[in-house]
Amino acid sequence: MNTKETLDEIAAQVTGCEKCALHFSRKNSVPGEGPANAEIMFIGEGPGFYENEQGRPFVGQAGKFLDELLEIAGLNREKVFICNVVKCRPPGNRDPLPEELIACGGYLDRQIEAIDPRVIVTLGRFSMAKFLPYARISEIHGHASLVHGKLIVPMYHPAAALHQPSLKPQIIADFKTLPQALEQMKKDQKSIPAAESPKEDPIPPAENEPPAEQLSLF
Ligand code: URA
Ligand code: SF4
Repeated sequence: MNTKETLDEIAAQVTGCEKCALHFSRKNSVPGEGPANAEIMFIGEGPGFYENEQGRPFVGQAGKFLDELLEIAGLNREKVFICNVVKCRPPGNRDPLPEELIACGGYLDRQIEAIDPRVIVTLGRFSMAKFLPYARISEIHGHASLVHGKLIVPMYHPAAALHQPSLKPQIIADFKTLPQALEQMKKDQKSIPAAESPKEDPIPPAENEPPAEQLSLF
């Protein structure tokens, strides 16, 4: 029996959620979208103006650039899951507050558990901090590390690369490493007999997490 919670159930709860003050100003919450069997998940920061209007992630300028980056990496939207660390728009696109990240974090944890992707690509500082709380994005962007059995690949946020053009060639180069990272994960997982596969640890919230043991692969 499949006891896994479905993405639709999580999305329905996000739609009606009033767990933090962001619900007062939202037009639409943005649970995220993509197939339940996605092998790769992209996690951004939070909805912006157009995402709040449409209830869909990455549909504005940053989203257009993300589509280009996905194509460069040989991926497309239909095959990947895309969401954010907070599901409702912070007014004026300000940074999410700690209490908002905590209130919303459970939805993201449940999405990760439901999808169980091999690779998680973090877009920007806030999603990186969930997995690699002590890392600096300027130092580890594009460098994959294993955290609780998943390959975490921190990337600059596409919007940051649009505002700061010097980051653009770097984010493009970082996205070009993704096919290799995904292949490597597939090979590694095949080589572990099922009986010996380590049990998946739930990913604890960043606040409680000791420094992750980073196994840099690239
Ligand atoms: N920026 C984000 O971090 N997420 C979106 O969904 C759109 C822009
Ligand atoms: Fe709920 Fe998250 Fe929206 Fe806050 S941001 S109201 S926790 S869905």
